[in-house]
Amino acid sequence: MEKTGVCRTLRRRVTALLRGGARERTEVFSPLGENRSLPYFATTSDCAAERRSKGEDGGFFSAWRKPESAVLCDDSLALKIIVYMEISDLGQALGGITMSNCDICPRQCGANRDIERGYCGADSSIRIARAAKHMWEEPIICGKGGSGTIFFSGCSLGCEFCQNALLSHENYGTKVTVDRLYEIMFELESQGAVNINLVTADHYIPYIIPALKSAKDDGLKIPLLLNTSSYLKIPTLKMLDGIIDIYLADLKFTSRDAAMKYCSAPDYPKIARTAIEHMVKTSNNPIIENGIMKKGVIVRVLVLPGNIIDAKASIKYLYTKYGDDIYISIMGQYVPMPGCSHHELQHELSAKMYKSVVRYASGLGIKNGFIQDLNSADRCYIPEFNCQGVKKSC
Ligand code: SF4
Repeated sequence: MEKTGVCRTLRRRVTALLRGGARERTEVFSPLGENRSLPYFATTSDCAAERRSKGEDGGFFSAWRKPESAVLCDDSLALKIIVYMEISDLGQALGGITMSNCDICPRQCGANRDIERGYCGADSSIRIARAAKHMWEEPIICGKGGSGTIFFSGCSLGCEFCQNALLSHENYGTKVTVDRLYEIMFELESQGAVNINLVTADHYIPYIIPALKSAKDDGLKIPLLLNTSSYLKIPTLKMLDGIIDIYLADLKFTSRDAAMKYCSAPDYPKIARTAIEHMVKTSNNPIIENGIMKKGVIVRVLVLPGNIIDAKASIKYLYTKYGDDIYISIMGQYVPMPGCSHHELQHELSAKMYKSVVRYASGLGIKNGFIQDLNSADRCYIPEFNCQGVKKSC
């Protein structure tokens, strides 16, 4: 096992448990790093080597894949701890969320992610399509150094007009371990990125928390940003409380009909509004230092051709509820994608339509907002997905 942050965090916790007489306790390592009153058994036998000889890694992450008998090990301490955990106990440890019958997002498709992919296209492995600095987000997100974007594969919402369809619909990406994800964050920081921008990581949230927590514990200085569709259940979102600094959230629709038509998700407006409310509540007022956001919420409204009234309704809702406690980003960068079946989405957004939405927003009095140059509605602004930065460079 590589001695990365996940292992260091584990080592600290193993040491603390042993000092406290772990054998007599009923504490357990959960993948979320919480100590719960669940049965456990500790041994110094060489169980990890045995599992490795069968091709199973002995890492922290295996707690997810093998919840019934997970091995947590630390070679430098010559210590092996086995955690026996029933699937139901794992669900309890995760706040009622189970991964063998996945219900972490509002689709609640029930996939057993240990052996199959869900509606979102994801199984129990983390897949990434690109990890690189990106200059085309809002100015307070990019700064001069660029945003450290990590694009995840798959998507639980699956909009037919998705601008990153290769990822969201076709699941393009490469498997990475939790340890590699941890390393990627530090690599982006060392390249000068001003934040770590987790793009469409919603369906991986429980899987990536060990990497996020370890990176913070081990001194990652730049903020962690969740770039999300907002199609999130509150228990899943709550897992990120105290971990995520910035939410870059979408409010894609206010109309149930539009959400049904383009995403087969009529519940989207209600769910997204509730999720955004939680994000605002846990982030407080935005903090901007030297022109770069350190904490806060930006909500994006992508203006879709033929959906001007809905875009205005979303903006009005956001400004009426939150005023300038959040930033509202009015996006005009829509590019028609080949998979769009609805006629109105097969055309670009006209300058007239976009200006009408911007005029409306400005008439409301929005101060904390962003608008776009319509030249950004070009395919050349869609990042190239080629797994850049995903594999460790030699
Ligand atoms: S995250 Fe994916 S697997 Fe889990 S419920 Fe949602 S769509 Fe299904």
